[in-house]
Amino acid sequence: MRVRIHRGAREIGGSCIELAHDGARLLLDLGLPLDGDPGDQTCYPDIDGLAGGGDLLALVLSHGHRDHTGLSHLAGPNLPVALGAATLAILKAAATFVPDCYVPTNTVPLADRQPLRLGPFTVTPYLVDHSAYDAYALLIEAGGQRLFYSGDVRGHGRKGALFERLLRDPPRNIDTLLMEGSSLGRLDPDRTFPSEDEIEGRLVELLTKTPGMALVAASAQNTDRVVSLYRAAKRTGRTLILDLYAAAVLAATGNPRIPQSNWSGVAVFVPHHQRVQIKRTGRFDLLTAHGHTTASTPRISRRSPRAPHCCSDTRCCPTSTGPTASQAHGRSGRSGTATCISRAGRRSRTT
Ligand SMILES: [Zn+2]
Repeated sequence: MRVRIHRGAREIGGSCIELAHDGARLLLDLGLPLDGDPGDQTCYPDIDGLAGGGDLLALVLSHGHRDHTGLSHLAGPNLPVALGAATLAILKAAATFVPDCYVPTNTVPLADRQPLRLGPFTVTPYLVDHSAYDAYALLIEAGGQRLFYSGDVRGHGRKGALFERLLRDPPRNIDTLLMEGSSLGRLDPDRTFPSEDEIEGRLVELLTKTPGMALVAASAQNTDRVVSLYRAAKRTGRTLILDLYAAAVLAATGNPRIPQSNWSGVAVFVPHHQRVQIKRTGRFDLLTAHGHTTASTPRISRRSPRAPHCCSDTRCCPTSTGPTASQAHGRSGRSGTATCISRAGRRSRTT
């Protein structure tokens, strides 16, 4: 098996790895550089056969962050795209709201530790803890050789047990390890990143001493963080207000343990720019699906001018029509979302 790393070895983002064996090829991720533009051809990797139908058998996506999927629109409809079922559902949900969000149509589902045969390659996904939902590390076997690609992985999220499971029962006899390392060297050796439980505790502290409505900048696709926000809101007697994009993404996870728009203690606010997107795309069904409990603009407006911010970034105001805060991963701007946490749990119905 031969390996060609197109991008990602000397930079964070734009991950793309090409494998070749016995006259066939496989692509692992087709990411956009963090500072790249999907329409900028100068950042396109030099890969033959992306249209499909040739010796390039498939594109395998480890997870849905744009630095791993942001150039997947280059794949033609004849090239199968293997990805997690929930990742595909989230991409579909995001496409209504996020510009340049490509949704593959010729797909093959990945499932945790279920080997997938693609020509001479056998791909075994390992579900991992990451801020993206439904993220996988990938074991690739071909010609008696074994390559393990970690994708993006961490151990301090709410799914940290997956990382521990990987340590307890890793794939063995690996010939080549391609390891994500975007955080290597970013902390002193004696320090660690806070766990989501610790972040939840910090949120509780902030919400307790914050009068009025609190505004939080967070990515809706970071489901662990949304869980932390929901739990912190519940512990402080507040209502968690999501925008419609967040509500749609959370529903797309298909996970009944992740906060949903119809849960007690959750309300949905539809800012103007999302109303415009709904009208443009005709996705009025989203308003029906997430219209159980809505936060009206007058109510938001009455509370927001005098409410201190949880964060110092005022761009997170949900009444803004522009991009909101986003994460380092997949930072399309609009893929981030703003979340309000309203005190006293008052709600209003859509009128
Ligand atoms: Zn990622």
